[in-house]
Amino acid sequence: MKKHFSLLLLLALSLAAVPQAQFAQEPAQAVDTTTRPVEKQIKRVFEFSADGVSFSNEFDGARLNSVARFGDGQYMITITPENAPINPSPWYAFKVWAKKKKEISIRLVYPEGSRHRYDPQLSTDGRKWKYLDQSFITEIEKGTGTSGPSSRPKSIVMRLQIGRKPLWVSAQELTNSTSVFAWIAKTARKKKAAVEDIGRSIEGRPLRMLKFGDLDSKKNILIISRQHPPEVTGYFAMQAFVDELLGGSKLSKQFRREYAVFVIPLMNPDGVDNGHWRHNMGGIDLNRDWTTFNQPEGRQVSEFLKKREAETGGKFYFGIDFHSTWNDIYYPMTPDNPGNMPNLVQDWLVAIKKALPGYEPNIQANNRLLPAIVSRNYFLASHGMEAIVFEIGDNTPRDFIKKKGEVGAIELMKLMLEGTKPTGKKP
Ligand SMILES: [Zn+2]
Repeated sequence: MKKHFSLLLLLALSLAAVPQAQFAQEPAQAVDTTTRPVEKQIKRVFEFSADGVSFSNEFDGARLNSVARFGDGQYMITITPENAPINPSPWYAFKVWAKKKKEISIRLVYPEGSRHRYDPQLSTDGRKWKYLDQSFITEIEKGTGTSGPSSRPKSIVMRLQIGRKPLWVSAQELTNSTSVFAWIAKTARKKKAAVEDIGRSIEGRPLRMLKFGDLDSKKNILIISRQHPPEVTGYFAMQAFVDELLGGSKLSKQFRREYAVFVIPLMNPDGVDNGHWRHNMGGIDLNRDWTTFNQPEGRQVSEFLKKREAETGGKFYFGIDFHSTWNDIYYPMTPDNPGNMPNLVQDWLVAIKKALPGYEPNIQANNRLLPAIVSRNYFLASHGMEAIVFEIGDNTPRDFIKKKGEVGAIELMKLMLEGTKPTGKKP
């Protein structure tokens, strides 16, 4: 039965994952978000006595579906998604070690239709990461495109120096629920923010919210990230953005006296801890479920928003959803869809461009509000939030991500405190 399902999965993937030119744009067509089956990984240690080499996926965020040895120190690791069809962003993460110091090679194998997306990062403690040097990577069937999946190789072979101490190998810096909740706790402690669980995922993990500012204010903003598990760089931008809102500047303090800020850093904790490519434990892309709310994660956020508005008589003025893709992109709505603070997002993008000399923001505005199946459209259509999807490239330098998050927060706070006499200038 299990094997049968895997074969079907591979077949569905090969049919579904045809390379598309419009790889980054969010489609507006309604999709069925009824719960579908998910194939869970078998968690175990894979031991190869011939080489004294072991692999493990026994940690949250791991993805390693099977390992095969095909020669002295030569391995093949198969990575499959949680179900299909699925957006082909193959996530992987595993540990490997050897009884004696040894060099091994690992070939990653993805289902037909998926290409290699994330270059490996290594860690000895699961916290500090660095990219495996390119000289240890051999690309298989190089990409021919200039951007998106077609620009990437079909797969890679990586050479690793391993020893007794487990080496972590991960598609991006491993940032599982333990790591996110530790950041939330540290931020709450150091910056005097409050923490509230507003609901639970299918597997019972908390939907944990950080809240700060004037919590009695009628003026609110909402920040979310990680609907899509592998999108760690968007999460990094969210962290820098939130840190700046919580900072010690005069501007930040004034902002916190006027606004209440609500942050949900981990929208899809089950997907993240199960090493999913995209979906939640209901087998669904959460960012297509903001109208029907068949899945608990988005539904509980919408219940929170309604409750907050009803209890305080207040409004949400701004909503931002952090993601990652091939490049840095801003996806606002066009100004002909005004919310509670018209032109805020357009003016904000102008201000960001000004504040980062030499930086040309990639802005792709959307004019179709309905059906509001993605978070941004729901935020605007149902709550009047000026809303945006903030996308960070997979490989954007980490210090620039931080800078963009900080600058974004500073410029937003300035505009939102001006009481806004927005100009509506086009970026
Ligand atoms: Zn995303």
